[in-house]
Amino acid sequence: MPLAFEQPVYVSRPLLPPFESYSRLLEGVWGRVRLTNKGPLHDALEDALRHHLHVGHLSLTSSGTAALMLACRALDLSGEVITTPLTSQATLHALTWCGITPVFADIDSATLTLDPHAVERAITPRTRAILGVHVFGIPCDVHAFAALARRYNLRVVYDGAHAFGTEINGETVLTSGDATTLSFHATKLFNTAEGGAVIVQDPEHKRRIDLLKNLGIQDEVTVVLPGINARMNEFAAALGLANLPIVEAEWAARAAVAEIYRSRLAGIEGLDLLAFPRGVRNSHHYFVIRIRGGRVSRDGLYESLKEYNVFARRYFWPLCNTQPSYRDLPSSKPENLTAATRAGEELLCLPFYGELGTGGAHRICDVIEHVSAGRSR
Ligand SMILES: *Cc1c(COP(=O)(O)O)cnc(C)c1O
Repeated sequence: MPLAFEQPVYVSRPLLPPFESYSRLLEGVWGRVRLTNKGPLHDALEDALRHHLHVGHLSLTSSGTAALMLACRALDLSGEVITTPLTSQATLHALTWCGITPVFADIDSATLTLDPHAVERAITPRTRAILGVHVFGIPCDVHAFAALARRYNLRVVYDGAHAFGTEINGETVLTSGDATTLSFHATKLFNTAEGGAVIVQDPEHKRRIDLLKNLGIQDEVTVVLPGINARMNEFAAALGLANLPIVEAEWAARAAVAEIYRSRLAGIEGLDLLAFPRGVRNSHHYFVIRIRGGRVSRDGLYESLKEYNVFARRYFWPLCNTQPSYRDLPSSKPENLTAATRAGEELLCLPFYGELGTGGAHRICDVIEHVSAGRSR
């Protein structure tokens, strides 16, 4: 088995800073004996991220899921919210936990993001918002959604878990809509082990989110909102502060891996690469290929890669609309979601992280070429 990897290669590998840059920050935590509740590292990371991402108002949270829930609460969403089935369960569950009925609309088969026409058809008198996902870092059609929001008086929220660093014509996509959420889970490009953030345009929303994430506590004797505990602690914030200075280097290392993947996989029959719209800066969260019509099926390739110790992932299959919590919704019928259903069956995320290096990427391409040619190992 000369092509097989000695150690398993997974789809992602958490970014960790040099240990000393983390431990230096921990010395401060030990000195202050301040572990959470809007500590100095929490505040420093909020500032650092606002500058890094070029956004005005940002509030750190304990996870990306909590960030979505806080965004829905801060905007007082209820009724129906239109969203995509090609996303993490977290996107849907956040709506459900807020008592909102999710309504699925189909995606655009090229960009994999919500199709504005399908969204418009799904609008009812109960619709309050559109929840778009910049899936795999491909930006939603933010102009079309802004126009729909104006026409139908809706809010727009984006799940930007994959869009840390996504730009359109040099401008961050994270300030689109009323709110955009980020996840800093270990597997994301920028991580705090567990964590997330909400980016909002309106300072009043920032104020509400800051209250809501701390149980609605205004001061020692005043609790003004029924909040939750979604605070980011000082250990997570320290990891974020140590990771932030190396995230651009990680991005560049991933760009080099992506370049190898693109040049070597482009010619393989039945294997397509995702086309990012012109002017979009790729966030390099995932490297996604689409397998259709070739000699080897998506699931065939996925299974074969395992024999070489390569563990790709079929994100986001099975789609959210097929899961027990959502499959009985009227909008969940596969006939309503034909482009998403097809994408769910054709997409494959390859191992993608800086440490893989161009050497690792070449080896994975060797395996894919071998398997796609229909040869057995
Ligand atoms: C990771 C992810 C989330 C959830 O974030 P957590 O930090 O794990 O709660 C939400 N949406 C998308 C699209 C994700 O990929």
